[in-house]
Amino acid sequence: MKVINLKSELIPILKKERSAGKKIGLVPTMGALHGGHLSLVKASSIEADFTVCSIFVNPTQFNNQEDLLKYPNTFDEDIRKLKMAGCDIVYAPPHEDLYENESKRITEFSFGEFEQILEGKYRPAHFAGVALVVSKLFNIVTPDLTCFGQKDLQQYYLIRQLIKDLSYNIEIRCVPTVREEDGLAMSSRNLRIPHELRPLAATFYQCLITGKEMLKNGESISSAKRKVKEIFSESAELKLDYFEMIDTGNFKIIDQIKNENETSLCIAGYLNNIRLIDNVNYN
Ligand code: AMP
Repeated sequence: MKVINLKSELIPILKKERSAGKKIGLVPTMGALHGGHLSLVKASSIEADFTVCSIFVNPTQFNNQEDLLKYPNTFDEDIRKLKMAGCDIVYAPPHEDLYENESKRITEFSFGEFEQILEGKYRPAHFAGVALVVSKLFNIVTPDLTCFGQKDLQQYYLIRQLIKDLSYNIEIRCVPTVREEDGLAMSSRNLRIPHELRPLAATFYQCLITGKEMLKNGESISSAKRKVKEIFSESAELKLDYFEMIDTGNFKIIDQIKNENETSLCIAGYLNNIRLIDNVNYN
């Protein structure tokens, strides 16, 4: 496995692999890798002949400076894990390699109503930043396949749609969320949770399961929302941003299930100053 910092070095290597007929997979990450990231790399290496994992903490997708500054960095450990997971190249660019033109940039993504709900609503400009960096990576790597995690369901939907809207010739896979034993979705931000608060972090997943059970028992989404608000109000360290039911066919908030196989529950909020998000499918 090679670690490469510059796109000028990466592009010729990928050109050679592609002309040898290899299918190229791309897994974009921001590092501080855990089992969730590694399952994306494994999913790519099963389907693709050559997997590129990018590690880049993308400043344009952070709406909160503290979150950006405190974003964990475990680079040496990441490289060790990626070697074991079947990654072929790590692309870990410095800021200028992706944003050399930043001060003169006039291109700006916008996603209309999609940005008014869930993560879009609570993290202004977040998806514009995600789409910007992912498009740059798509243009540099020109992958045949890309893998994203279900953990960030709205982001997966956005990238799937971006691929269609901009006619990228890329297949996308949604890889199931990898969880800790108590159900907490693995996340780089979990490294920032103080030991004594760690049990409370599982509340996010527990609320999703409680909400799902209530719906399965014929209760309404508004009763489930009331219950989740009540659970969050019991701990001063917890703050709820949203708990919503989503039609994953069009990514709209719904209050009645239309298609059980295209319904998910999404939750986000804070454990002290650490923002956590999660979701589960209804089926
Ligand atoms: P990040 O490094 O947070 O930008 O995440 C990089 C990719 O890993 C995204 O596609 C995420 O959805 C995915 N990911 C993050 N956490 C998990 C998880 N617990 N299970 C599966 N995929 C994940």
